Amino acid sequence: MKADRGVTQDVELTADDLKELAGQFKAEYKSKIGQDFPDDPKEQLMGAIKAVFRSWDNPRANVYRRDNDIPYSWGTAVNVQSMAFGNMGDDCGTGVAFTRDPATGAKGLFGEFLTNAQGEDVVAGVRTPMKIAEMEQKFPEAFKQFTEVCKTLEDHYRDMQDMEFTVEHGKLYMLQTRNGKRTAQAALQIACDLVDEGMRTEEEAVAMIDPRNLDTLLHPQFDAAALKAATPMGKGLGASPGAACGKVVFTADDAVAWAEKGEKVVLVRLETSPEDITGMKAAQGILTVRGGMTSHAAVVARGMGTCCVSGCGDIAMDEEDKKFTLAGQTFTEGSEISIDGTTGNIYGGIIPTVDASIAGTFGRVMAWADKYRTLKVRTNADTPADAKKARELGAEGIGLCRTEHMFFEEDRIAAFREMICADTVEEREAALEKILPYQQGDFKALYEALEGNPVTIRFLDPPLHEFVPTEEEDIKKLADAQGKSVEDIKTIIASLHEFNPMMGHRGCRLAVTYPEIAKMQTKAVIRAAIEVQKEHADWNVKPEIMIPLVCEVKELKYVKKVVVETADAEIAAAGVNLEYEVGTMIEIPRAALTADEIATEADFFCFGTNDLTQMTFGFSRDDAGKFLGAYYDAKIFENDPFAKLDQTGVGKLMETAIKLGKPVNNKLHVGICGEHGGDPSSVEFCHKIGLDYVSCSPFRVPIARLAAAQAAISSKH
Ligand code: PEP
Ligand code: MG
Repeated sequence: MKADRGVTQDVELTADDLKELAGQFKAEYKSKIGQDFPDDPKEQLMGAIKAVFRSWDNPRANVYRRDNDIPYSWGTAVNVQSMAFGNMGDDCGTGVAFTRDPATGAKGLFGEFLTNAQGEDVVAGVRTPMKIAEMEQKFPEAFKQFTEVCKTLEDHYRDMQDMEFTVEHGKLYMLQTRNGKRTAQAALQIACDLVDEGMRTEEEAVAMIDPRNLDTLLHPQFDAAALKAATPMGKGLGASPGAACGKVVFTADDAVAWAEKGEKVVLVRLETSPEDITGMKAAQGILTVRGGMTSHAAVVARGMGTCCVSGCGDIAMDEEDKKFTLAGQTFTEGSEISIDGTTGNIYGGIIPTVDASIAGTFGRVMAWADKYRTLKVRTNADTPADAKKARELGAEGIGLCRTEHMFFEEDRIAAFREMICADTVEEREAALEKILPYQQGDFKALYEALEGNPVTIRFLDPPLHEFVPTEEEDIKKLADAQGKSVEDIKTIIASLHEFNPMMGHRGCRLAVTYPEIAKMQTKAVIRAAIEVQKEHADWNVKPEIMIPLVCEVKELKYVKKVVVETADAEIAAAGVNLEYEVGTMIEIPRAALTADEIATEADFFCFGTNDLTQMTFGFSRDDAGKFLGAYYDAKIFENDPFAKLDQTGVGKLMETAIKLGKPVNNKLHVGICGEHGGDPSSVEFCHKIGLDYVSCSPFRVPIARLAAAQAAISSKH
């Protein structure tokens, strides 16, 4: 209708236009529902109430809840109240405001206002609103009262408030208030300011920050030099900070489809609506033509930590043909673009990004977290670079080094394949001799990166067939290297085939069949430790050797014997003193259930909750994704048990293992290194059941530190 009438604002439509529009909506209703739109206000009200309750179960609500750890069982509520109208003339208006800037955390009123409008116009972003300060000129009395109310509310809730209000014929009505959503940067700033203002204690400040949010602080920013050299072709509002570059897509479905192909995408929309949530999640960044800082796109992107530029009105959008023009350039699906969610600048092409730098408030809050937490935080790292990054982010050790990840480089894999395809122990040992120096060098670099903090090296875990060549050319190379025929190699490869490799010849089963692998890895670990100990006498270098996928104490005992004999011989030959530990992963239900036996042979337990989840549920960790969607739809599951620890079942096995293990070995230390080690609610559970540490990927280390502190603080109160 607006396009038809050549206007841009709802209020520019005439009463007749609106009548016509209402008629069209009624006809649409009848064609869809099969009956007239009800005239009875009670019926209308009941319809509206039912719609709110129904909304609890729509697909986007389910996705949102899963992302935000909100249980389905909570249900929702409906308030019915009389309406204040912001659209009854020029002495009316409506607005949304925060008591502090939700992007930066700076103290001071921040918000938007529209005259002669309803709240929907502000939040849906159909009109670009004015800044809240301009309300002072238009409605001085209401504005004065509003600022007083803001202070009252913030003092009461002792947190930044997000408020909606309406002015009806000059009179202020407060519609709602809640603790405002904020960027991670703002969350840290506000927490520090509230402590400095005497409103909150350090512990309360730590408890206020959503650990998952911190992730966004670690997101990339544009490379400064490249950014300086680039000229923006347009500007919108910097609605959610960070930098994004990628290929332009125009619909949420396209965003998901391109992202699944491994492409980075920027979702460009006129405005976003809740239907776009999956696309927004898949995108590196979001760019909208309409909408202010409180529009759907801005609020949702900030919540997700995704970069967003909103309200770039200069874009001429053609949604139908999937193209837009800006500054004379036309962009179609797949064109490249970069957006800066801090400045609002938009650039053609790709501007390279660099890792984010961490601001001062981050360090301050992390220091508080470290003061209050008791759970240690380690990292899962296989390379010195990952280990260094994790150290910078506060990791206190390596909880898992997956040694199989160290074999994939060209020259290493060749030696490794020779080892797999060896016919005799001698042939195998010869191949292992070639691998040993690589491993030793890697382990040394890890010890150096960790500067005397604990390093757990896990012995080889994956099925051997993952390493064998598949290309004809590589098979020939291997045959030549080993003086075998191509046919021989193919027969060996065929013999390695497994129907269910995840439950097959992997983990300590490899060391049981080929003890020489464990021997080589032990030599590499111990020799590296001895070298580092010599160079850094002040570090406490104490290797922790971890045996994976143990299900039976005798199995551990068998492999441990190989490790201990080899390690002791190495230490004796070097004429040094070196302590080391041999522990096990607990990742098979039988290991948890017989932990009292296993603990007699283990210096430590580390829960491999990826495999423990797989085997407790009987869900293949590689394939569960294919059917979990149906489980969410049927409300059988609310979360992916591979991401969020199943405390009821898998958690019970963990508790059982601790209860059985600790009494027989009072030195036993216990950690977790499955994916759950970086998930806040799982970290809380680990604290509760008495783990010593969690171990997670480097970028999740700050999240785990904060979650561990929150768990300690909440269990105290
Ligand atoms: C686990 O199973 O949880 C684990 C950490 O080992 P991986 O993921 O390497 O099997
Ligand atoms: Mg495992």
